[in-house]
Amino acid sequence: MNMSLGIVNRQNAEPTELTAFGQAQAQFDGIARRLGLDAATIALLRSPKRELHVLVPVRMDDGSTRIFESVRVQHNDARGPFKGGIRFHPSASADDTRALAMLMTWKCALLNLPLGGAKGAIVCDPRRLSLAEQERLCRGWIRLMADNLGPGLDVPAPDVMTSGRHMLWMLDEFETIHGGKFPDFITGKPVGMGGSPGRTEATGHGVVAVLTEALELRGIDQASVTASIQGFGNVAQHAARRFADAGGRVVAVSAWDSREGQAYTFRKRSGIDPDALARLTDGFGSIDKTAAAIEGYEILPGSEWIDQDVDILIPAALENQITSRNVSRIHGRVQIVIEAANGPMTAEASQRLEDRGVLVIPDILANAGGVTCSYFEQVQGQSNYYWSRQEVLQKLDTWMTAAFREVHEKAEHDQVSLRDAAYVIAIDRVARACRQRGWVS
Ligand code: NAD
Repeated sequence: MNMSLGIVNRQNAEPTELTAFGQAQAQFDGIARRLGLDAATIALLRSPKRELHVLVPVRMDDGSTRIFESVRVQHNDARGPFKGGIRFHPSASADDTRALAMLMTWKCALLNLPLGGAKGAIVCDPRRLSLAEQERLCRGWIRLMADNLGPGLDVPAPDVMTSGRHMLWMLDEFETIHGGKFPDFITGKPVGMGGSPGRTEATGHGVVAVLTEALELRGIDQASVTASIQGFGNVAQHAARRFADAGGRVVAVSAWDSREGQAYTFRKRSGIDPDALARLTDGFGSIDKTAAAIEGYEILPGSEWIDQDVDILIPAALENQITSRNVSRIHGRVQIVIEAANGPMTAEASQRLEDRGVLVIPDILANAGGVTCSYFEQVQGQSNYYWSRQEVLQKLDTWMTAAFREVHEKAEHDQVSLRDAAYVIAIDRVARACRQRGWVS
């Protein structure tokens, strides 16, 4: 049995740093003080409402049985059903899952979605499982969780290393157990099977919608800006495409090379064509370094995406990538750092950048396009009427732009960072919902 719900991605953690959930709680505590929340509301919001740990037995192709550990953290549902992804990862941790569930609560509230926050993880490496084993794992997890999930209760979605195919197996098992069709039970389904057009590109698209607003705010013409991106998976590829379509120039991309098991930065000063680079990239966002060298990319160490002489940095890979250890490497020309990934920057690094006059756009705003489009998918499923891709992306632009403007106005009014303004708006909304429901007085 794999019992590795330990700590993940701590390699870049600062020496005195808290765990991921500890950091999320510390951030919440600061905002709770600013909002003057009472002790009961603080106690309610700084921990998950419920956590479900289940062991999933799976019959393997060789006839043996393996037990997979899983956790579903349901943080808060005062504003609507719990909502959040379910990931497959060999070193998933309960601590990280708690932090991500809390983040979902704030993200949904910030976008004013009628949803709460949750996150789930199953400890496994899908790259080492056959498709049949993955299907049995998905169905087995749903069988154990069926009473604790549902359209009005908790709505899962894809996350790291899970896809539309996994969501459809989960949906099918849920519908078999409960008898009936429940297209709004799960989001991220394939298009044509209840999925929303535009969902695949929604997060990257939303990142650039927000970035465009920020550039306008600073009076910068998008057609003249350059960017360096960490990651070239789902979020980064679509962000790079939309950024390039608007005239921006991506000059460096950092990504994993799975053959060598390490990250590299791929640079083309004349500008990277995102479609051409995507052809050298596998389904997990790993770039073929040998092919890239033949195509004329400069190959640099993976960490050098951060050193580039560009206007914009887009961390779109992992958490904890910009820390007090490397923040000073960020070039003086950088004007905006937009957190496309969840938690890519430590609080200290973020503060140091803001002190330098860099505009930091926080993750709960920047990458909320994904969950907003998931909400659109639920709405379409509930009405059994599907919108065109163009309609979805237009609606997404409207929601993301409105959220950015609201956060910016709040930041200006309170004279705080965009991050603090976003958290104040989100946490205040959730605290009010708890009070209105009579959970706290
Ligand atoms: P993904 O798995 O598709 O891509 C991750 C990318 O990061 C890959 O290109 C990989 O090569 C690269 N990478 C991994 N380790 C690296 C390293 N050490 N250095 C440089 N590159 C490295 O993931 P994704 O769906 O694009 O998600 C990226 C981030 O965005 C995550 O933090 C995720 O939680 C967040 N996010 C994703 C969505 C979504 O809709 N996919 C929504 C909100 C937030």
